[in-house]
Amino acid sequence: MGTTVQEMRLKNFIGGMWQASQTDQVLPVPNPATGELLAEVPLSTAADVDRAVRAAREAFESWREVPVVERARVMFRWRELLVQRVEELARLVTTENGKTLDDARGEVWRGIEVVEFAAGMPTLMQGYVSPQVSRGIDMEMVRYPVGVVAGIVPFNFPMMVPMWMMPIALAAGNAFVLKPSERTPLTSMRLVELAMEAGIPEGVLNLVHGGKEVVDALLTHPGVDAVSFVGSQPVAEHVYRTAAAAGKRVQALAGAKNHHIVMPDANLEGAVHAIRNSGFGSAGQRCMACSVVVAVGSVGDPLVEALVEAGDRMRIGNGLEEGVELGPLIRAEHRARVVERIHQGLAEGAVMARDGRDAMERLPQGFFLGPTILDRVNPEMTVAREELFAPVLSVIRADSLEEAIGVVNRSRFGNSAVIYTESGAAARMFRETVQAGMLGVNVGVPVPMAFFPFSGWKNSFYGDLHATGRDGVEFYTRKKMVTSRWFGGGR
Ligand code: NAD
Repeated sequence: MGTTVQEMRLKNFIGGMWQASQTDQVLPVPNPATGELLAEVPLSTAADVDRAVRAAREAFESWREVPVVERARVMFRWRELLVQRVEELARLVTTENGKTLDDARGEVWRGIEVVEFAAGMPTLMQGYVSPQVSRGIDMEMVRYPVGVVAGIVPFNFPMMVPMWMMPIALAAGNAFVLKPSERTPLTSMRLVELAMEAGIPEGVLNLVHGGKEVVDALLTHPGVDAVSFVGSQPVAEHVYRTAAAAGKRVQALAGAKNHHIVMPDANLEGAVHAIRNSGFGSAGQRCMACSVVVAVGSVGDPLVEALVEAGDRMRIGNGLEEGVELGPLIRAEHRARVVERIHQGLAEGAVMARDGRDAMERLPQGFFLGPTILDRVNPEMTVAREELFAPVLSVIRADSLEEAIGVVNRSRFGNSAVIYTESGAAARMFRETVQAGMLGVNVGVPVPMAFFPFSGWKNSFYGDLHATGRDGVEFYTRKKMVTSRWFGGGR
């Protein structure tokens, strides 16, 4: 039974209906592990965006009036529907993104946890009152939804990143327009379907596929009040500048170059296990991935040797197969850019400790790259400075913790940083002086839980309020301060 072109072409979801974009421009969506064509994604137009934003504006007027306890009940139902489908969603994530099923299951749960957090909106949205701030005068703070929120998301977490945004924004009473990644559009569609099944009213949640044209239309549309973006640094900066100039509230989470400092007193086995998972897990395509290892003092040689062995043992292949630990990169073009960077690193003087490029020949049908380790990297080399987004580690040698922290702090990025040590004093010095938003102490992927903010620093974040936790509630609500007194009666 063949699939027709019409069935392959994905639809937008506007005003409660799946409908075709007017565009004739489409991009193929291949399974990155096999090259098999999964779908064709339309590069929708500004006119499609306009219809979605209008539908959202209209629906917002009644959704904001729905009592917050009822909106919370929709979250409870959505959560149940998602929990029943963890396996289905994980397989979908793996099929379009390439990460292993275990990684995908973890991601699905991370998304569900945000729905669980958002179900607490009746208390999260509460204001506060100070009676008698002056004689007979009371003061109160009350919260309201912001209006129409646009969410623009990357390819690397097809479930978790849209879920950083939608549950909190919707439970707070906003309407939403989601722009999925054009490279992983399928999971987003399923999330929207399940939200509707849970009871989100028509028009409150919309989805428009596409790329730059859709994004730029959302950033400047007068009907959009707030923009949540997650993606690469140059696009985050563009989104922040453009949306802010158009008078919108904006949070833009950007790229990363995460450093892991390994002290001579670290538990070597634990550190190697954590760095292997952080650096090579999800093929290095996490914004929290370890990218640079800073080895302090005598730990350098044994650490590199153990990392090479750990890389040798990783099973590469299609993430749908149980036991596979490393899936493909998202596209062949992305892999080609990474390979170019590896060449550049070698030309600039790095030493190849483990070469993962052989996977390209061994597994030619997908976009695979094996674990790659460059040793003797110095902080000025391009591989040490730029985000590669691949299973490639650069190892820098340092003589002291101070020198290692200096290396971390000279990076223009500041998403995450990790230290491996058994010394409380070293860990404390690291916490107090390192310039990054999400720190790990002997933890390789220190992702905050849904009830904490996801907080990059420097060029890893543009804006003020971060994603999830109380920051998320603050971002998706606006406040009124009411000062009141009553002249008549009651004396
Ligand atoms: P990307 O920047 O290429 O795409 C992100 C979104 O922006 C997509 O929806 C895409 O369609 C859109 N876009 C792309 N180019 C655009 C342009 N020129 N103008 C307007 N819109 C454009 O990012 P990606 O490759 O999908 O995702 C990987 C990146 O995301 C990495 O840099 C990673 O570090 C980052 N990321 C950051 C976080 C975080 O929390 N800081 C989380 C996940 C991913």
